[in-house]
Amino acid sequence: MRKLTDTTLVLASHNAGKLREISALLEPFGKTVKSAGDFGLDEPEETEDSFAGNARIKAHYAAKKTGLPALSDDSGITVDALGGAPGVYTADWAETGQGRDFVMAMTRVWNELEAAGAPTPRSAAFHCTLCLAWPDGHDELFEGIVRGQVVWPMRGDRGFGFDPVFLPDGERETFGEMDPEMKHRMSHRAMAFGKFVAGSLD
Ligand code: IMP
Repeated sequence: MRKLTDTTLVLASHNAGKLREISALLEPFGKTVKSAGDFGLDEPEETEDSFAGNARIKAHYAAKKTGLPALSDDSGITVDALGGAPGVYTADWAETGQGRDFVMAMTRVWNELEAAGAPTPRSAAFHCTLCLAWPDGHDELFEGIVRGQVVWPMRGDRGFGFDPVFLPDGERETFGEMDPEMKHRMSHRAMAFGKFVAGSLD
């Protein structure tokens, strides 16, 4: 596995929640982190049907455009009783045409579970694939999954996206209620990040 020797890397994301979480995770490693926004990069179209495929698109795009190693995150929630939806389309379910509305997206998930008469607990998982890509086209992938259930009504206003309706297995608080430090220790993103640290930084 190729190591990340450069001191500066680009986070290939425009998502404020992901930028906040990944910057916090990277802070102790003495890397200078820039965001796609710092370079005025636009967002490439996510045309793949897997988290890994879309993570690759975003990281390679940013690495090529900036000449720096780039780290992307493709993530989402899969709900078992919905056949794995929204999955790679998690952000799309929140698209209103004028930005993203996650209350709308969470409501749609719950309504579809009700319509399907899905038994409780309504099992689900958060997935995260990180892709570290270099300008020469090499890349490495790191994956994390956390299992839990979708709960209703929404609980908590910490975190972002689908956090208020995701109760991780063995916990009493949703990701929306939980202390962010606790989420950073157990989330799909933290798990993928741990593999990235072990494989690329050590
Ligand atoms: P994408 O990876 O940019 O396609 O978007 C994935 C979407 O999944 C995000 O916009 C979030 O809504 C959702 N998501 C991913 N990770 C998390 C998380 O840690 N908490 C809540 N929602 C998440």
